Amino acid sequence: MKRSLIAALCLLGGVLPGCGNSDSTDTTTTPTAATTQSTLTFTSTITGSPVVGARVVVAGSSYTTGADGSIALSTPAAIGATIDASAPGFLDRVTALSTTPALTLWEIPAGADVAFVRQLAYNRAGTAEVLWRPTAANILLQITGEIASDPAVRAAHVQAAAMASAVTGGKVSVQLGSPVSTGITFTLQLGPSAQGATTTYLTQSGGVIQGGRVEYASAAAARDVRVIAHEIGHMLGFGHAPSGFMCPNACGVDNFGPLEQAVYVSMWQRNPGTAALDNDRRLITGSSTSTAVFSCDIR
Ligand SMILES: [Zn+2]
Repeated sequence: MKRSLIAALCLLGGVLPGCGNSDSTDTTTTPTAATTQSTLTFTSTITGSPVVGARVVVAGSSYTTGADGSIALSTPAAIGATIDASAPGFLDRVTALSTTPALTLWEIPAGADVAFVRQLAYNRAGTAEVLWRPTAANILLQITGEIASDPAVRAAHVQAAAMASAVTGGKVSVQLGSPVSTGITFTLQLGPSAQGATTTYLTQSGGVIQGGRVEYASAAAARDVRVIAHEIGHMLGFGHAPSGFMCPNACGVDNFGPLEQAVYVSMWQRNPGTAALDNDRRLITGSSTSTAVFSCDIR
């Protein structure tokens, strides 16, 4: 538990404007063009199936999706109008009407609940609940310092990178050592400041993860596939969850599972900077860069 408290060390406070406001019921309507939509369709982020019976409010008027997941607007709504959609089994979504009539709702995978999804995808340790993820398709791991040439360290990182690549469903490829033309880089080293925990320092701007470093508590930690894969989970954008492989001490789990994979499928369909629960009208973007610290005690 102590480590989970340490995990609350995300250093975002005061860095991102509007961080403290997690209100997901913004109903401001700001039409930006004369273009309109008259029909909207809602499908699941996970299955792609129509979401039946969703309650949708568009520019203040309420509708319920039919068997095909669609609603017909009684009055065509302008691009930019607020859409607020909710359905059992899905995160409430707040977004703006765009030129695309097909929308998705973030499905909560079977076996999980809102709290799990929220903390895995958004948890920033009590500061801003913002969706962070890489936009790059490649993450390069560079082992440095005294563990750089340790064969066991390198072998464990190759194995962990494969586990992490798998949980993304192919969206992100994590590689060791070999240069990539496009992608982000994390350095991995022994960290004297880790004090028993392995720590990932994650740099982001506008919700886009840009790289960072991992400090291993010990050489043994740097050879531990579970430790390495969990830290790569943070590089992918995962926060600390209440259960599963991304809980601060991995909760006795050896690998990412179907729930982490299902959440990542949905995370990848949302823009970096999206606010909890699923609100991109409050997209928290900007050019400022900040660093979050995840302190993890994998046992
Ligand atoms: Zn962690």
